[in-house]
Amino acid sequence: MKRVNKIAIIGGGISGLAAGIWGQKQGFQTVIFDKNSAPGGFCAGWKAGVQQVGFCFRGLIGTKENTVLNHLWRETRALGNTLIIQPESFLSVSENDRSITLWQDLERFEREAKKLSPEDAPTISMFCDAIRTIAEYEIPAQKPDELLGPLERLKAGNKEAEKLLQKASEVSMKQFVNEFRNPVLRRLFSSVQPQNGTLASFLFQYAMFVSGNYGLPVGGAAAMARRMAEQYQRLGGVLRLNATVEQILTANGAARGVELHSGERYFAHWTIAACDPDITTHHLIPPNTELDKNFQQRYEDRLHNPIFTGFYCAFRTNQDPGLMLHMQDFEVEPFSIGKTLINRLCLIQSSYDSQLGQNANAQFVCLIPQAEESYNYWEELSQNEVLYEAETNKIMKKVLEQLRKRFPELDLKPVCCAAPDFFSRRFGAYHGTWSPFVTLPGIKYQPMPFTVPGVRRLLLSGQWMHAEGGLHAALIEGRFSIQRICHKERLPFSE
Ligand SMILES: Cc1cc2nc3c(=O)[nH]c(=O)nc-3n(C[C@H](O)[C@H](O)[C@H](O)COP(=O)(O)OP(=O)(O)OC[C@H]3O[C@@H](n4cnc5c(N)ncnc54)[C@H](O)[C@@H]3O)c2cc1C
Repeated sequence: MKRVNKIAIIGGGISGLAAGIWGQKQGFQTVIFDKNSAPGGFCAGWKAGVQQVGFCFRGLIGTKENTVLNHLWRETRALGNTLIIQPESFLSVSENDRSITLWQDLERFEREAKKLSPEDAPTISMFCDAIRTIAEYEIPAQKPDELLGPLERLKAGNKEAEKLLQKASEVSMKQFVNEFRNPVLRRLFSSVQPQNGTLASFLFQYAMFVSGNYGLPVGGAAAMARRMAEQYQRLGGVLRLNATVEQILTANGAARGVELHSGERYFAHWTIAACDPDITTHHLIPPNTELDKNFQQRYEDRLHNPIFTGFYCAFRTNQDPGLMLHMQDFEVEPFSIGKTLINRLCLIQSSYDSQLGQNANAQFVCLIPQAEESYNYWEELSQNEVLYEAETNKIMKKVLEQLRKRFPELDLKPVCCAAPDFFSRRFGAYHGTWSPFVTLPGIKYQPMPFTVPGVRRLLLSGQWMHAEGGLHAALIEGRFSIQRICHKERLPFSE
């Protein structure tokens, strides 16, 4: 029997597309509204002149065959028949002419790290053992936590890995760095993660990489999002691009659909807000709507809920870069970006992917970390177009100069750059961030609420609802939204 329940989905990023795909599969009539002209949210990247530039070069979690997450990615057709590249290395760092690499081959890293620093051998062994345990971890993705039965909860996850991650969530990266005596190892672990973030976050990412579950689909994130959008439309979903939602319509304390910037209204039984939750709660629902207190407090307490963003620079080359490491972090002459002093750069390369970087052999990206204060700086500067352009050009020139010194053989050419305020204007990202609030060490992770107390029949979705965020988080949360609706409507969710 075909259900007639309509769902309006705000945002055609990975989460909105996932909600749309599983919504259609369950027999709902869904419409996705996105303010941009291409689907995929962050994954869509953007067109800078003739060059299409993309994000998400670090990797996709869920690329390992026969895992629940990989099965979910495949169900959305995000991966299609594309090849998955597994880079040999996670990150390579150099300091005073010495370098160390976090290889996918953990034994190789362990051997090289112990050779570099025999005095750190016990800490290196402990670190590698933790990675081996966490590499076995399967991210719970079958059902939202509140819908798990007692037996399912008992079976879910991997208790040993969870215990280790829990313990590591009480340790800051800074404390972990201090466990090492060798300056190159100290540099390595200072470069992997913001220093006030937790060790758990880094252990998780590197363990996924070591297990072969953090790969790079050829064609990049934009191609992945396009395949998802095609699958959504194949299933009968309606994708409305260039369709900015101006407000969520409500009546008697429940969401009734959306109103677009054009004034058009779309009425629905459920609304899923798969855009940044700041947009939903602070702009789209009626003012003075009751919000979850803890949720609201996190936006107000900026000290204990930091976010990180970055200054993005893209380059290309017509040279063959040969066998380059995937991500390399190295010292540069100090310069400033916004309020942040930069003395190192991390270059990410994508020469493995012939489908990226049209008219060029390879695309290169530098993601230069910026703290939240920088966002305010950029937003203010953006009020003056001339100054803004002069400043971004100056930074791009400076970065290029440093890269050319380090990699003269590459003959790098600039493509484009984006300051944190760009991500906010283009995708509605809160203070230009690419991921949810960072959980500080020792503070228990509090999931963001997926409901708004003052508005029934509205669900929040997207990477913000999941620890750490990322593409896999957006996918899982999109599907969870449909499972939640099925549960509320007392409808079975067919796997
Ligand atoms: C530079 C960069 C590098 C990254 N690298 C990686 C990586 O290597 N690996 C990884 O896992 N993750 C990476 N990420 C993060 C990843 O891109 C995100 O986790 C993921 O794309 C979030 O998906 P989402 O659907 O939750 O949200 P989004 O992609 O933000 O989608 C939200 C959508 O809502 C739309 N929207 C907003 N407001 C409205 C409105 N009023 N009306 C209609 N539509 C609206 C936006 O246009 C957008 O399309 C990176 C992000 C960036 C920016």
